Amino acid sequence: MSTNPDFSIGRSKTDSRTNINRNTGLLSAGVLTRRNIRPTTIYPIYTSQFIPNSFLTFAKNQAVYMSLAQELQSRSGNKCELCTSEIALVIYEVPPMSNANSDNSILVCKTCLDQIEKTEQLNADHWEILIETMWSEFSPVQVVAWRMLSRLRSEGWAADSLDILYLEDETLEWAKKTGDHEQDGTVEFHQDCNGTRLYEGDTVVLVKTLDIKGSTLSAKLGTVVKNIRLVQDNVEQIEGKVDGQTIVILTKYLRKG
Ligand SMILES: [Zn+2]
Repeated sequence: MSTNPDFSIGRSKTDSRTNINRNTGLLSAGVLTRRNIRPTTIYPIYTSQFIPNSFLTFAKNQAVYMSLAQELQSRSGNKCELCTSEIALVIYEVPPMSNANSDNSILVCKTCLDQIEKTEQLNADHWEILIETMWSEFSPVQVVAWRMLSRLRSEGWAADSLDILYLEDETLEWAKKTGDHEQDGTVEFHQDCNGTRLYEGDTVVLVKTLDIKGSTLSAKLGTVVKNIRLVQDNVEQIEGKVDGQTIVILTKYLRKG
């Protein structure tokens, strides 16, 4: 990706951990990170369709973000539309969708976002305020409230709320599209042998000598593996390079370096 003196452009869509602006604490996942970000600036996520390929596109897209941000700020009174927090607000474009607008986007705080996106464990206490905020008149808010209540349905208050939350047919159909109502609410993460959470790019150390399948190579106890990749959909596996060869390693055989 190209850079110029004022902007850096990234496209990681979901790893919100690495996209927090160090100066402001604001999330700028997958988007355009201005160096001198103003504290009130709100950045959208899920913006792959907006990744600029020219400065003109960039300028146009920035104008689109800003007007959407303003619209959502005024609709919400500059609060998270799910939990009413006023801290670290971002635009969440409610999937599935193609072009962001105020009918399919909501303003959320970083705490809500991490749990919606399953990059942090679901904390039922945080969401109890949905009992009030689920009555929003705006359908994208209703959709996310319904999805979160579905994930929390083992909590009595959430199950009761789902029973009384009425959604229009079209809105309910949209809400069901991510399948959140079919899974249980727990989220699993990649963890090392001590239960410490692992992230993309971490350095790990092998706690066991491993024979590498289909090779005479063995990776010795104590081998340091840098810049690991987390295997999607399997929290027990990571990928890393040993002797220049990319191998899959079970997380139970390593610890965070
Ligand atoms: Zn929130």
